Amino acid sequence: MILGVIADDFTGATDVASMLVRAGMPTVQVLGVPEGGLPAADAVVIALKTRTIPSHEAVAQSLQALAALRAAGARQIYFKYCSTFDSTAEGNIGPVTDALMQALGTDFTIACPAFPENGRTVFRGHLFVGDQLLSDSGMKHHPLTPMTDANLVRVLQAQTAQKVDLLRVDALRSDAATRIGQLRADGVRIAVADAIDNSDLLALGEVCAELPLITAGSGVALGLPPAYQRRGWWAPSDNAASLSAVQGPAAVLSGSCSQATNAQVTRWIADGRTATALDPLALHRGEQSAETLLAQVLPLLPQGPVLLYATAEPERVKAVQAELGVEAAGALVENTLAALARGLVEAGARRLVVAGGETSGAVVQALGVPQLHIGAPICPGVPWTEAALPGSGEPMWLALKSGNFGGVDFFADALRDAGVTL
Ligand code: ADP
Repeated sequence: MILGVIADDFTGATDVASMLVRAGMPTVQVLGVPEGGLPAADAVVIALKTRTIPSHEAVAQSLQALAALRAAGARQIYFKYCSTFDSTAEGNIGPVTDALMQALGTDFTIACPAFPENGRTVFRGHLFVGDQLLSDSGMKHHPLTPMTDANLVRVLQAQTAQKVDLLRVDALRSDAATRIGQLRADGVRIAVADAIDNSDLLALGEVCAELPLITAGSGVALGLPPAYQRRGWWAPSDNAASLSAVQGPAAVLSGSCSQATNAQVTRWIADGRTATALDPLALHRGEQSAETLLAQVLPLLPQGPVLLYATAEPERVKAVQAELGVEAAGALVENTLAALARGLVEAGARRLVVAGGETSGAVVQALGVPQLHIGAPICPGVPWTEAALPGSGEPMWLALKSGNFGGVDFFADALRDAGVTL
């Protein structure tokens, strides 16, 4: 194993795996740390669900993943978080980075969520989402990790006792190795790295290929396979993205409330496709349940794909959270969507699109699939993946979309890519 990745949520794991497959690196994603050891692959991504849990638990799970990756011989470790640097006030990016650095005995790493193809760029340490600062973007309304400061040096410094500073894009483009040497000499342990386009990611890959630990969004993974190849560690494979064919109905489950997902749900409905809404307050009162929703949609499944969505605008989410509490509302919706996924698969569905990072984690856990083989991308950051269903071992396809990703037609595009007639 060349690269061992620890991802803080499921869609993030698939995103970084997709980046590696795109560079020709066969990659397997496992869901949590498997009991019987890791599969053999050039890159293994361990998907955790640690973004919003208490930081001591996130640290413990990340260290367990690190131990498994080191036991499998990983040359380099990559801690993958969201391209919008999603974190709670306590972390978990800082605490997990600290613990991984200590366990690896390293005194320097970078932090870079940039993913320019998806509009995430870092300039002078400030994260932009498209043309807006992170703090002006829809992320300020995120149900679990509202991001209200775009200055990543400040955000990360608040989460760690280690010294944080900046690797500016001009230094990255001129003499990154010298600048990193200066930062290290100044006692800087974590350098937030600017990156504005893919050439910056390639430069970062080259200058960071031999660091024991990288912390980043998925973008930095673009630059690593070529840097490994130049060092003679690895050569690209032509069929890194091939998946087995599947048959059977298709469905979309959406638990993300991001601006992008709201637009995708609106488009699906405007196109006259079948859609059923979850109502968290009705779920709470017992007036709606996974069973009542399944009774509604399963008869429709043979006619074409259905969308089940909890996706709502920020004001509605706030109203629900005020009544039920943030965590309880999130858990209620996630558990219901997970139960719906199980019901749909039991009814024969073999192609599922899931929108939302936490939502995808809940769905995949409920389906009990131990690992995902990564296929071709639907859009930057979101590939189709193949899983073997527990028991039968029958293949099914899952597309796990981070809330903010994809164009307005993402659901239809994904289903068409999976051979579904719309
Ligand atoms: P994203 O990838 O956009 O961050 P996530 O699935 O990670 O999406 O997070 C969205 C969270 O919001 C989940 O916990 C989900 O259960 C919750 N949620 C979804 N719909 C609603 C709603 N209508 N009201 C309150 N919370 C909701």
